[in-house]
Amino acid sequence: MTVAYRVALPVPLPTLFDYLPPAEGSAAPGSRVLVPFGRGKAVGIVVETGVESSVGANKLKRVARVMDDGPLLDAELMATLAWAADYWLGAPGEAYANALPLALREDKPLPDTRDEAWGLTPAGQSALDARSRKGGSLRLLEALAAGPLGANELHDRLPEWRDAGRRLASAGLIERVALEAMRAPAGQPPALSEEQVHAVEEISKSLGAYQPFLLDGVTGSGKTEVYLALIERVLAQGKQALLLVPEIGLAPQTVRRLRDRLGVAVEVLHSNLAEGERARAWLRARNGEARVVLGTRSAVFTPLPHAGIVIVDEEHDSAYKQQEGFRYHARDLALLRARRLGVPVLLGSATPSLESLANVDAGRYRSLHLRARPGSIRAPMVQIVDMRMQRLDHGLSPALLGAVADTIARGEQVLVFRNRRGYAPVLLCHQCGWHAECPRCEHPMTLHAGRRQLICHHCDLHARVPEACPACGATDLKPQGQGTERLEEALTARFPDVPVLRIDRETTRRRDAFEELLGQLHEGAPAILVGTQMLAKGHDLPNLTLVAIVGVDEGLHSVDFRASERLAQLVVQVAGRAGRASKPGRVLLQTHHPEHPLLRQLLAQGYGAAARELLIERRSVQLPPYHHQVLLRADSHQREFVDAFLQEAQAALAHTGLTLLGPMPAPMPLRAGRHRGQLLIESDSRAALHASLLPWQRSLASMPSARRVRWSLDVDPVDL
Ligand code: ADP
Ligand code: ZN
Ligand code: ZN
Repeated sequence: MTVAYRVALPVPLPTLFDYLPPAEGSAAPGSRVLVPFGRGKAVGIVVETGVESSVGANKLKRVARVMDDGPLLDAELMATLAWAADYWLGAPGEAYANALPLALREDKPLPDTRDEAWGLTPAGQSALDARSRKGGSLRLLEALAAGPLGANELHDRLPEWRDAGRRLASAGLIERVALEAMRAPAGQPPALSEEQVHAVEEISKSLGAYQPFLLDGVTGSGKTEVYLALIERVLAQGKQALLLVPEIGLAPQTVRRLRDRLGVAVEVLHSNLAEGERARAWLRARNGEARVVLGTRSAVFTPLPHAGIVIVDEEHDSAYKQQEGFRYHARDLALLRARRLGVPVLLGSATPSLESLANVDAGRYRSLHLRARPGSIRAPMVQIVDMRMQRLDHGLSPALLGAVADTIARGEQVLVFRNRRGYAPVLLCHQCGWHAECPRCEHPMTLHAGRRQLICHHCDLHARVPEACPACGATDLKPQGQGTERLEEALTARFPDVPVLRIDRETTRRRDAFEELLGQLHEGAPAILVGTQMLAKGHDLPNLTLVAIVGVDEGLHSVDFRASERLAQLVVQVAGRAGRASKPGRVLLQTHHPEHPLLRQLLAQGYGAAARELLIERRSVQLPPYHHQVLLRADSHQREFVDAFLQEAQAALAHTGLTLLGPMPAPMPLRAGRHRGQLLIESDSRAALHASLLPWQRSLASMPSARRVRWSLDVDPVDL
């Protein structure tokens, strides 16, 4: 037996690696070490020291160097990560790699985390007075005219300030200065409603102990105000708050709100940050300098030595699930962390996930409600528009177009929601029935008329639009169905005097383009917005009074068992965009299935009742959240390889008593030229599932058939 260090390395294998202790110094668990790996060196995290390795001393390599004086990951994070790697059947090394910003996974000294602030030097003041600089440099000098500014603020005002900053600093015109971290809070909180006060009080009672809460509040009911009030209390106790949001799109407005209100350092962590910035923000949280951390999925790994509360906004959002590598769910990980940290965790949503509602039923979460909207904001009225037997204009019914016209005439704004980009989802030959299909996915390609291209939304293959049908030569090619681009065209033709703005991934490729478009709408002039999911969330447009939802019927007939839940959430979230100010909102839902029970119930009784119904259904057919699922996926250029691997994997589970479905083709059996298959494993006991799957997972990699496929395991998959 040899006494060794057990180290996590960023490789997709379900193992840790043993090394002899370093020749010099020692490292505690959570510290980074440099170790020989393969032909080179790798940065690893010490998971355990003093382990008895079953590998002989002569075979073990030695830790080359200890990188940190103390642990970078504290005991809480280390324990959470070990648990998480087991739970999500991930490679431990990948779990640790997710927790650590990329810049900290390199063999470099830790970056300086001092608050970065810049001010003018006397020479800089003269340069400003003389206007001796131009362009970005001049703008930066002007920005600093009133006094020094922090890097965050500079970034907000002049996103491109870094280049100018370097030039001016080397010319001695600006310099790094100390900036007092605290600013006086500027924003005044509104007087909270009774429901808000109740929620804040209930949660406050749990400060200092683990307790999950579900804050179930309709859109615009003031959930964010509840978060702010709680964060204020946590800050007053000298503690930290972590607030997760599903997308960066929501971050800028929330950051502004937090900074205005709280007057403390708010760190923002998301995947669009430069790696250096991310590492510094992470370290500031670890040092306790960052008091409030706001971020997307991966921010759930931020160290919180003085944790006070963890909040997950829009907890139902599937963006919290990582879909590659280490497939964790940030909401579930947030709960795990809160438990170990001994702090309350607050999940907020207008449309809570069925998982969370089931947890409330089971007594694991406490639920709090915000039923009223503050002030005079009235909940929108939702109506179904029956499309059957209607004469449609590019998929839009007369009733819907009439409502758009009325709204515009009143000087108000309209949102037409369609969750599909492009001009039309299918290009069809009216002579022979041929349609444009992606050869690599065997799925229809979407017509993008403006770009004159057919694009596969599954593998991003681009192709020219054919002049004539490749099968029969006819020139009778017709787009079928509507995407946002086609709706934009149809509405522009109908309402030539009103701006029609399309908001989807295509029109908002640049980050500021989205903000710009929204800025225009804030001014309140009549306009028609056409958009996808991007518009469903959190954007307050006070003059938006009509929301028209088109093309939901696909969601009513999907094979995915989560489709109904998603559709209900989407409809309610989009509807919530209507009528946020004092003007009443109206929502039209256009469908061919006006009698569909889900739609009926959603409209008559709201999301809560519809969700209850869905839960009953899930229980009776033994689906999550009552049954637990793990999905083994595999793909390869050859179908036989996929089948062989999945069969071998299945055989290895035959004796376990778990329910096995498959091997079967994936819902998209071919994607980007690769054949895809899956094996679904189910059990009503999470413990039984994991007891069998942990050893099985370790054996998968060594199966001979595994070498010819790409495979992955997904615990609690959200996309089957
Ligand atoms: P949610 O997060 O539930 O969508 P917000 O907290 O963003 O709701 O609140 C919606 C709007 O109502 C915001 O403009 C907010 O400033 C305002 N608001 C929230 N609570 C109150 C209150 N108690 N009094 C007045 N206005 C409020
Ligand atoms: Zn044809
Ligand atoms: Zn494709």
